[in-house]
Amino acid sequence: MTKLADHINIILNELPSNVVLVAVTKTRPVEDMQQAYDCGLRDFGENRVQEMIDKQPQLPADIRWHQIGHLQTNKVKYIAPFVHLIHSVDSLKLLTEINKQALRADRIIDCLLQVFIATEESKFGLDEQEVRDILSSDEFAGLKNIRIRGLMGMATFTDNMEVVRNEFATLKKLFGRIQNEFFSGSSDFNILSMGMSGDYHIAIEEGSTMVRIGSAIFGERH
Ligand SMILES: *Cc1c(COP(=O)(O)O)cnc(C)c1O
Repeated sequence: MTKLADHINIILNELPSNVVLVAVTKTRPVEDMQQAYDCGLRDFGENRVQEMIDKQPQLPADIRWHQIGHLQTNKVKYIAPFVHLIHSVDSLKLLTEINKQALRADRIIDCLLQVFIATEESKFGLDEQEVRDILSSDEFAGLKNIRIRGLMGMATFTDNMEVVRNEFATLKKLFGRIQNEFFSGSSDFNILSMGMSGDYHIAIEEGSTMVRIGSAIFGERH
């Protein structure tokens, strides 16, 4: 077995059956992605639109493409025909544009609201009030071509694993509250995307249902 296959099998064996592995493939060549595909992976995450649309035609059509990085409104149209899940929705304006492009593509696009849980300045995301404001707005109620499937968050980049654990626990609690208050009659809201190479064990212990893992599969990025 190749090293890549070893890494994938180790991770797959660790994941509970309800947790989806998204292989984060930004900066990786399509050859490596094909190898990951051949190991059985179908969920791939990219953070740049240009890279996703360059790679998508070169790889098998049954790959589920996840947009995990910050998404600009003017780029939505390029991925709307095929994207499987957008993890990084951080405004009603973006959601409205996704709905518009989904309608044009005759699809319903699944989305996660990205919540800011870290202490760093640089990360994108909504706070709890902004999540509530979006979900209770009249404009949101009119968006028929998007479906909110859950929340996504990124922990602080730190060696202090108690900080990381607390942030994931906070997101899980928010997920529960939003699920109860806005989605109680529906099973659609069931994805909690949290955990990367350095912290996915903790994320799973704290209730993650989807982990986004790059370097633990493909090696360090350069
Ligand atoms: C790059 C990236 C990851 C994966 O990071 P690794 O540390 O390589 O596992 C996960 N989520 C997002 C949003 C990313 O940009």
